[in-house]
Amino acid sequence: MNYKYDFVIVGAGLAGSTLAYLLHNKGYKVKVIDKREHIAGNCYTENKDNINIHVYGPHIFHTNNKEVWDFVNKFADFNNFINEPVALAADNRVYNMPFNMNTFSRIFNIVHPDEAKFRIDKEIEEYRKEHSTIENLEDQAINMVGTTIYELLIKGYTEKQWGKSCTELSPEIIKRLPLRFTYNNNYFNDKYQGIPEDGYTNMIRRMLQNIEVVLNYDYKEHEDEILDEAKYIIYTGRIDEFFDYIHGKLEYRSLNFVTESLDIDNFQGNAVVNYTTKKVPYTRVVEHKHFNNDKSNVTYITYEFPSTSGDPFYPLSDKANIDLYNKYKEASDEYDKVIFAGRLGKYKYFDMDDVIEDCFKIFNDILNKKEEL
Ligand code: UDP
Repeated sequence: MNYKYDFVIVGAGLAGSTLAYLLHNKGYKVKVIDKREHIAGNCYTENKDNINIHVYGPHIFHTNNKEVWDFVNKFADFNNFINEPVALAADNRVYNMPFNMNTFSRIFNIVHPDEAKFRIDKEIEEYRKEHSTIENLEDQAINMVGTTIYELLIKGYTEKQWGKSCTELSPEIIKRLPLRFTYNNNYFNDKYQGIPEDGYTNMIRRMLQNIEVVLNYDYKEHEDEILDEAKYIIYTGRIDEFFDYIHGKLEYRSLNFVTESLDIDNFQGNAVVNYTTKKVPYTRVVEHKHFNNDKSNVTYITYEFPSTSGDPFYPLSDKANIDLYNKYKEASDEYDKVIFAGRLGKYKYFDMDDVIEDCFKIFNDILNKKEEL
C-alpha cells in the first residue's frame, strides 16, 4: 500500500518535534499535527513586553547527557540560568530549596554540615522507631530530611500539588529533589542547565523547519483519514485516549495558571517562589522575567493552582495507575502501526531531557527496523 506519509506525528511538543526533526532529517516523509493552535506543547513560550512567558509552567532545561545538550543547542542559544527557587513557608519566612546548608542553617540556626546532619539524623532515628520501612512519600521524605523540614517545606506543598495525602503518594516523587550538605542552592545536580534566550517556541519552530505542521487538528476527529495516509503514527498524546479509554482513565494532576501583568519592575525577586503551606491555595508563583533577565518596565507573574481537571500535566504513577498503564502498553505492543512517545504517551514523569533521550531511543529502534519501512 502506498502511504502519503511515512510518519504522521501527533503532537508538536518536545517529543513530537524531536522525532519529526530526526525522521525528516533521515529523509522520511513526515507530517506533524496538533490540536492546539500553537506548536511547542507545554514548553510553549509567548513574548509579551519583551518578556518570555512560560505559558504552561516553568521549563528549565537541565541534563547530564551531552548528546541531549548538544542536540537542543542546535536549535537555540541557551542562557546560563540556574534554578534557585525559594520556599515561602507557614512561618512567613523564606527558605532555600532544594534542601541544602542554606536551608538547614536558617531552620536549625547552625553553621556547619556536621551540626545539620546531627539534627536531621536525630529526627530520622526517632521516626524510624515507629516506621521501619519506606512505604510512601512521607516515609521517604522524613528519611531524607527529618520531620521539621518535612512539616515546613514538603507536606503542605506536596499534598496541594497532588491532591492526596503524603502517606498515599509514591516515594519516587520526592527523590527528584537533591539533598546536599553544602551551601549550594542549585535545584538540579545536572552538568548542563539553561533556557533558550529567545524562548522555547522559537527553539521548537527551528526543529520543525521545512516540516509540514497542521495546527487546530485533532487526531481523534480525523483518525480514519490519518490511518489511511500514514504508514506509521507517532502518538505523543495520552495513551489511554488513543485507545478510547477501553481499560479506564489514567489519572493525571493538572494545574490552572493565573497570569497577571503588574506595572512594577520586580515583584518577588526570583523566578520561582514555592508556597509550602496549605493555607495558600497555589503551589508556586513564577515571575517570568527572571528566567532570562528580560529588561522590561513591567512584570508578568503566574500563580499555579493544582487541580484534578484540565490538561494532563503530571502522571500520578501510583500502583493502580501503573497497572492500568501496563494494560495500555500491552495493547500498544500488539499494534505495530503506532509508536508512543513523551510524558503522555509513556505515562512517565519525564523531564525535558528524559523526553529527548527517550526519543533518541525510539528513533534508533525505527532505524534498526528500517528495512521494513
Ligand atoms: N516539593 C516540595 N516542596 C517544594 C517543592 C517540591 O515538597 O517546595 C516536592 C513535591 O512533592 C513535588 C516534588 O517535590 O511534587 C517534585 O518537585 P519538582 O519541583 O521537581 O516538581 P515540578 O517542577 O515537576 O512541578
